[in-house]
Amino acid sequence: MGRFFLDKDEKFMDLAIELSKKANYPYGAIVVRNGRILGRSDADTGICKTIYKHAQLVAIEDALRNNTLMGNLKGCTLYSSCEPCMMCMEAICYSGIDRLVYGVGIEASNLYYHHIEDFSVLDIVKKINPSMKIIGGVCEEKALQVIQDYHNHIVEDDEKFIDMAIELSKKAFYPFGAIVVRNGEIIGKSDDIVPTKDTIYTHAELIAIESAVQNIKDSLSRGNLHECTLYTSCEPCMMCQEAILAEGISRVVYAATIEDSNEYFCDEFLVHIKDIVKRANSHTKIVAELHRDKAIEVLKDRGRLEI
Ligand SMILES: [Zn+2]
Ligand SMILES: [Zn+2]
Repeated sequence: MGRFFLDKDEKFMDLAIELSKKANYPYGAIVVRNGRILGRSDADTGICKTIYKHAQLVAIEDALRNNTLMGNLKGCTLYSSCEPCMMCMEAICYSGIDRLVYGVGIEASNLYYHHIEDFSVLDIVKKINPSMKIIGGVCEEKALQVIQDYHNHIVEDDEKFIDMAIELSKKAFYPFGAIVVRNGEIIGKSDDIVPTKDTIYTHAELIAIESAVQNIKDSLSRGNLHECTLYTSCEPCMMCQEAILAEGISRVVYAATIEDSNEYFCDEFLVHIKDIVKRANSHTKIVAELHRDKAIEVLKDRGRLEI
C-alpha cells in the first residue's frame, strides 16, 4: 500500500474521529467512495430505544439513501473510529462495502467503555467475506483518546452524582439517598416524597425511581428508564433491586454496601445486586462502593436503628 492511500485513510479517519467527539457515545463512522463522502454517523449515535443507532449502521443507512438497494455500496470504504460490532459487521458485508478501515480495536475500547461488552468477529468476517480488505489501527491513539475522555467524563459525573445522593441521605428520615439521572439531568430524587414510618415502600431508591417514571412524559409502561443511572448512597435491598430491573435502569452506582448498613444502621437481607443482575441475565451495569467511606460516615452518625 502506497503512502497516498495511507494519507487518504488518515484524512478520512480524522473525520470519523471528529464525528465520534460530537456523538452521545464515542463512536463515529463515514462511508466514502472515490474520495466522496456518501454517508456519515450523527450526534444521536447510541441514544436509542432501539439497538440500531450504532455509528457504523447510521453511516451505512445514510449512504444507502442515495443507493437504494443493499449491496449497492460496492467500491466504498467504511471508516470507523472503532472496530465494528457483530451487528454492524453483518450490515457492512451485506451493503457491499469492500474495504473497512478502523481506528481502535474492540478489546481496547472495552477497557474503557462497557456499554455493550463487544467482542471481535474479524476472524469470522475474513472467512465469510475474504475479498473484504480490512485495515486496523489507523489513527488508533486519537480514536482511543476520545473513548478515554468519554470514560473520564462518566467517572467525573459518577462522583458528582453519588455525592448528591449521599447529601440527600444526610437529610433523610432514614439515612439513605438516591437520584435517577438521564443524559446528565436529574429526573428523580429521593426527597421528592417525604418518607414516613407508616409504609415499607418509601425506600430512597423507590422514591427516586417513582419520581423519575412520573417525570418521563412518554412513560406508559414499565422498562422506560433504560437510559438512566440510579445513584444510591447504599446498595439496594431486594425490593428496590426488583424495581431497578423492572424499569430497565441501565446503570446503578452505589456507595455503602449492605454489610455496612447492617453494621452501622439496621439489618437487611444480604442479597447483592451483582448476583441478582447476573441471575436475571440483565445488562444493568453496577459500579460498586464509589465514595463508600462518605456514605458510611452518614450511617455511623445516625447510629443503630432502635425498633
Ligand atoms: Zn455496532
Ligand atoms: Zn430498598
